[in-house]
Amino acid sequence: MPIRVLISHESTAIPCEKCGYPTLHVAHLVTPEGQCIGQKLVCTLCRDRESQERETPEQQLSAG
Ligand SMILES: [Zn+2]
Repeated sequence: MPIRVLISHESTAIPCEKCGYPTLHVAHLVTPEGQCIGQKLVCTLCRDRESQERETPEQQLSAG
């Protein structure tokens, strides 16, 4: 079951131990049903680097 990671940009960013930039945010782990099951620290910079290595399919936006 895919768990969505919703980054809360309103939260205070803290320095990342990996890259050193203050881009570490608190993210909420949300199930497809919309239930929050926990929190996780996600560095947006490191995550972007990881996503560049693995090509991810473009998000399809359904109109209507
Ligand atoms: Zn980082």
